[in-house]
Amino acid sequence: NQGTVWNEVDQYIAERLIEQDAVLAKVLSTNQEAGLPAIDVSAAQGKFLNLLVQLHGSKRILEIGTLGGYSTIWLARALPPYGKIVTLELDPHHAQIAAANLAHAQVQDKVEIRVGEALEQLALMRDEGVEAFDFIFIDADKPNNPHYLKWALHFSHPGTVIVGDNVVRGGEVLDENNSDPRVIGVRQFYDLLAEEKRITATAIQTVGSKGYDGFMIGIVTN
Ligand code: SAM
Repeated sequence: NQGTVWNEVDQYIAERLIEQDAVLAKVLSTNQEAGLPAIDVSAAQGKFLNLLVQLHGSKRILEIGTLGGYSTIWLARALPPYGKIVTLELDPHHAQIAAANLAHAQVQDKVEIRVGEALEQLALMRDEGVEAFDFIFIDADKPNNPHYLKWALHFSHPGTVIVGDNVVRGGEVLDENNSDPRVIGVRQFYDLLAEEKRITATAIQTVGSKGYDGFMIGIVTN
């Protein structure tokens, strides 16, 4: 079965290339015990995000969709000591678990969790004059992806990297008649990216312990 092989290869990769990490293992078990869905990025993907932040030298990160803070920790660990992440989460229970996980990982000083509808928080952040981010990770409710892309552009500067998760959805992205709002949102996300002159982007299909999906990665040009 394909899924079993993908999972085993992810384990093979993790055993060889990803440091054994008691903190992240504890975060995943805390999330499970707290009833959070296991929809965080995989270890291989978390490390990929971490490497992207290091490669880019990002100092300010915006994450849309915190869950239990698993990806947040991978991102935070790539930051220099004075780096900062703002992460947005709708569900207060998720945010509470994330706060405890971030403290356990000793990255809480770098992370601000803002609880509420991401679209409302983003508008508040604009009103507060929050400065631009160097790296933006979009991983919340997919129907809002087109709106998140517009906000990502608002909070970007030339050179900002924007990454969107789950942009393949087991291949469902091909189906123009699919009525799943997440698929519709992701298809609109591609359409916006295609017509948006301020960003140049690609998407990479991925398989692994989280199934068949993909990342969009783009860089803001002006
Ligand atoms: N980035 C996380 C990780 O890899 O560890 C996973 C995030 S999970 C896929 C998506 C999260 O977005 C969930 O915790 C969900 O509660 C949150 N979410 C859903 N709709 C939202 C909204 N409208 N505003 C803010 N967060 C939202």
